[in-house]
Amino acid sequence: MPDLPEVGVPAMRSDAAEPLYLDYAASAPPADEVVEAMLPWLRGQHANPHAEHWHGARAWRAIEDARESVAMLLGGDPEGVIFTSGATEANNLALKGLLGSSRSHIWLSGIEHKSLLEPARSLAEHGVGVTMLGVDVLGRIEASAMRAQLLSPNSAPGLVAIGHGNNEIGTIQDVATLAKVAHEHGHLLHVDASQTAGHWPLSASSDELDLVCLSSHKMYGPAGIGALYIDPILLPQLRPMIQGGGQQHGVRSGTIPPFLAVGFGAAAALAERAALKHRQHLQAMAAAFLAQLDAQGLVYSLLGDPVNRIPGHLSLHIPGVAADEVLARLLPHVSASTGAACASGELRASHALRALGLDESQARQVIRFSFGRSSRLQEAGEAAACLLEAIQRIHALERP
Ligand code: PMP
Repeated sequence: MPDLPEVGVPAMRSDAAEPLYLDYAASAPPADEVVEAMLPWLRGQHANPHAEHWHGARAWRAIEDARESVAMLLGGDPEGVIFTSGATEANNLALKGLLGSSRSHIWLSGIEHKSLLEPARSLAEHGVGVTMLGVDVLGRIEASAMRAQLLSPNSAPGLVAIGHGNNEIGTIQDVATLAKVAHEHGHLLHVDASQTAGHWPLSASSDELDLVCLSSHKMYGPAGIGALYIDPILLPQLRPMIQGGGQQHGVRSGTIPPFLAVGFGAAAALAERAALKHRQHLQAMAAAFLAQLDAQGLVYSLLGDPVNRIPGHLSLHIPGVAADEVLARLLPHVSASTGAACASGELRASHALRALGLDESQARQVIRFSFGRSSRLQEAGEAAACLLEAIQRIHALERP
């Protein structure tokens, strides 16, 4: 990499009040509209939505409006929206709630989020068959390869579970085609849309998806809530994981928190309204960031599908520099991540990067930058400059 020119590249952001936040794939702060919608429900309006009195009924109506907004975003029927604590619970409910006596096999790929892989692993300990689907070099599950793998040993009906947008490498799967393949074999398709909701078109009804899950804090809603969508026709097949007062068709007992549901609903409505605008903005940020790296001749490769990828999501393999060293140098200036945030702190390289075919040392050279709706073009430039400078300093230290 050539030395950075003295002029035109901003120095590290030593005077900034706080680092730039470029980890929206890990969590996105609630939008202003979301906070506004939540406030009355954090104050006097709060009541138990399952209570039979006037205040309870008002809270219930607010929750039902939120359910409708979430259903609209997903192209589904409000009847099938089950509020959960987040996507981890929703993925667990999808797998553990459907697998058992009549469905006894799961297909999923090694690049999936741990909230799919771990329940699959524990179901395998209880006799459920698990088959790992192959992915190509861009992390795509190819329809014909999946078709060949779906012939389960005992051809019992099962469940295929797939992340729509991969949180680590950004690749978006063609879930409409994969749903057709799953259905040809009599299996259901569950799609984890935590990373794509509101940023990439998806419709449970037109894409014929049987189940979809969402995470509110990935789509500018409050943390602590998410949803599992299930085609209402399949509701009787879903066994509860959390039992109690029988709320939400008895499949997810517990009092629904009105302030969280209302915030999630507001985030869904906002996402639905401004999806295209947000997508274009995020893509422009990522393009500006990469253009600056290219202009400075940085050697890197963008992991995942370069076209069908989560808008604003960049997973960069930078050969020759350890990602944790780069992140440490970026720490005062930019908040980014190595692989998945959930996996950070683990000593092992990310399971998803390894499943993509990277060796241990390559997987440790991957940094994820993810832009958000409030990221500005100037910040993309500043972040790229910080990255270039961090790498240059690491190389300079290595020189004898
Ligand atoms: N699935 C994917 C694809 C994710 O990125 C995440 C969050 N890292 C989850 C599931 C878990 O979401 P939550 O934090 O809502 O449990």
